[in-house]
Amino acid sequence: MSGIYIHIPFCKKACHYCDFHFSTSHGMMSDMVNAIQKEIVLRKDYLAGEEVETIYFGGGTPSLLNKDQLELLLNTIRENFIVDENAEVTLESNPDDLTKKHCRC
Ligand code: SF4
Repeated sequence: MSGIYIHIPFCKKACHYCDFHFSTSHGMMSDMVNAIQKEIVLRKDYLAGEEVETIYFGGGTPSLLNKDQLELLLNTIRENFIVDENAEVTLESNPDDLTKKHCRC
């Protein structure tokens, strides 16, 4: 079983107890998403054809990504890896960010 983890290092605010890597400055979010997309393509042979059964977006707060950014990353993974049609996709979320659009990606 193989899984792909994507780290989204942005949060709305800094929680005082948190040791994760993140930024509350969102100006680079679009550039970061484009960089992650490029890295997914660069690593397309990393799993040597093994099927991906889990995709996990952690952070940070991945629910800060908009629908288009989420679709871009998910589609890039699907185009460059063999993804099980029943793969489990997890998105760490702030409930305040979630919309029906997010949940349909
Ligand atoms: S990663 Fe979670 S706990 Fe850490 S600052 Fe962001 S929202 Fe808070």
